[in-house]
Amino acid sequence: MKRQRWAGRAFALALLATCGPLLAADFQAGVARVEITPPQPFWMSGYAARTHPSEGVYQALWAKALALRDDEGHRAVVVTTDLIGLPRAISDEVAARVNARFGIEREALVLSASHTHCGPAVRKNLAVLYDFNEEDRRRVDAYGIELVDRLVEVAGKALEDLAPASLSVGHGAVGFAVNRREPTPEGVKIGVNPAGPVDHDVPVLKVTAKDGSLKAVLFGYACHNTTLGGDFYQIGGDYAGFAQAELERARPGATALFVMLCGGDQNPNPRGTLDLARQYGQALGAEVGRVLDTALLPVRPPIRTALEVVPLDFAPHTRAAFVEESASPDKFRQRRARLMLAAYDEGRPVRQTPYPVQAIRLGGDLTLLALGGEPVVDYALRVKRELAGENLIVAGYCHDVMCYIPSRRVQREGGYEAVDNMIYYGQPGPFAETVEETIFAAVRRVAERVGLR
Ligand SMILES: [Zn+2]
Repeated sequence: MKRQRWAGRAFALALLATCGPLLAADFQAGVARVEITPPQPFWMSGYAARTHPSEGVYQALWAKALALRDDEGHRAVVVTTDLIGLPRAISDEVAARVNARFGIEREALVLSASHTHCGPAVRKNLAVLYDFNEEDRRRVDAYGIELVDRLVEVAGKALEDLAPASLSVGHGAVGFAVNRREPTPEGVKIGVNPAGPVDHDVPVLKVTAKDGSLKAVLFGYACHNTTLGGDFYQIGGDYAGFAQAELERARPGATALFVMLCGGDQNPNPRGTLDLARQYGQALGAEVGRVLDTALLPVRPPIRTALEVVPLDFAPHTRAAFVEESASPDKFRQRRARLMLAAYDEGRPVRQTPYPVQAIRLGGDLTLLALGGEPVVDYALRVKRELAGENLIVAGYCHDVMCYIPSRRVQREGGYEAVDNMIYYGQPGPFAETVEETIFAAVRRVAERVGLR
């Protein structure tokens, strides 16, 4: 079914290509970028093993924005960042200010993070990793406050830049992501599992200015930005940073925006050196470039948007369990236990976390599904099965990265993405078994609201 429909559209596109002007400029598009490299030295995020702040910068970090407007005045803005993840506190403030200043509704704003593990600590994200002194805390808070200003600024600049443009979409693939959930006699460990599920899809949204020049390219990949490990102390964007830089070098004047997909259980393989990060970035950038030069499917108006925030239930827990954990020799468990005990003592034990599920659909041609947290690859694979026939970008790491989002399968198997990550995210423990179905029910509702079902 899917193949037939696409083949039909490819044929129509070939006809268009031979019959005159390829695409009408039925959208307006705007782009902007703002640098968000932290002052040096700065505490980095992503690895519990790091013991001191950064020792330099191998690549500047950016917040970028792509604004779209259709011929009826509907607008949407996608903001991408070279950061570990945005916490709800920052996203909510950015969204409120973008709404007040520019009139963009919350459901029309995507706030995404590349999940680079060479980026700065972002306040209120993964706070259990750190035991900051007063000066560290002041610096991290100051960066977080400045970050809100920069994200509002980049969205505003992209809206100011709106000009006639045409959109088209295609897909490529690169193979450096591997499933990292390695089965061992002691359970699932973070390693390499060549037999585990992966999603090597590289969706590419091309934005062409009226004069035919490439204005922007938004692309994604489902793989942790963890080529570099916890023993590495320089700031940069990992493979996604190199991929964006490669594209912008090869296509002068274009803005390249990376969206992290459902790579919660996906790592680059092999890992560990700056050279590898550069190679993966070049491979991904080259693949996006190859796709850009093929005959892509036109994307048409209108812009339709929907957002739901659904509560995800945690498995039941007791105060006694955290009293016991607070005596653990593990300092991270101690910190998590203190957070949970404080919540119990305030009479509001953490039983749920709010979870954002957003759909942005362009015509009948492309849907960007933007999920919160670190969804494992099963989510993208299932969305693609359930919404077969639709051209999809299934992003994770949007709006609020509050913890990993395991599928029911991953919950049954256990391991880091199901259980242990909750310590570092300051969450009470594994999710209830309902998490996958709760999210998919929300996916179906937002899909329906954008006319997808
Ligand atoms: Zn992660």
